[in-house]
Amino acid sequence: MSKGRFIVFEGIDGSGKTTQVQLLADFLREQGIETVVTAEPTALPTGKELRAALSGKEKKSECEMAALFVLDRIAHNNDKENGIRALVEKGAYVICDRYYYSTLAYQGMSTDYSWVKKMNLACPDIMRPDLCIYLDLLPEQSLERIRRGRESTEIYETEEILARVRNTFLTVINDLKKTDNIAVIDAYRPINAIAEDIKHAIGELN
Ligand code: ADP
Repeated sequence: MSKGRFIVFEGIDGSGKTTQVQLLADFLREQGIETVVTAEPTALPTGKELRAALSGKEKKSECEMAALFVLDRIAHNNDKENGIRALVEKGAYVICDRYYYSTLAYQGMSTDYSWVKKMNLACPDIMRPDLCIYLDLLPEQSLERIRRGRESTEIYETEEILARVRNTFLTVINDLKKTDNIAVIDAYRPINAIAEDIKHAIGELN
């Protein structure tokens, strides 16, 4: 059986994660590779609680959000049938839209970075991805895309906040590139050019 892989996409909202996750999944499936697309927050009860808070419907403190993201991530790793670990162990490529890099950038920025980092990276149940693809986009470029495509914006999507999140993301990427395999890709280019760079980064895993 061939080895499974765990690939994560990160980037601020509008950076093209959804688009590129789908293109990569299509490409891998065309090669006959079993591919599972997943996302965080998950569709599990912990993920539903997170989505309610992100939409502004339920109030939670940033520390509660950080801890809830960790709980959701543990459930996402451990789920017996559809969990990341089970799927990778049976040989699938698991592609995940957002992972702990997002928690470090968003909640790390608003609570205590080293606490959030430790909860995620020192947790034995939370797998390290084989590759993190960080789609880098400037906040104004991101908002231009979000406004074109959607009617409402989530609570994190204002230019000032996106700028802070991007800066924090770059700090997180710089910090974690010592321990994690991270590819930073310029996302302000045509969709196909970005997809080619991603295929190249995946090819280097083998
Ligand atoms: P995310 O999942 O990171 O929020 P999406 O993939 O949903 O990003 O992309 C946000 C919007 O930008 C969508 O309308 C999408 O069609 C568009 N888009 C994605 N990639 C590009 C690109 N490289 N150039 C221009 N527009 C893009």
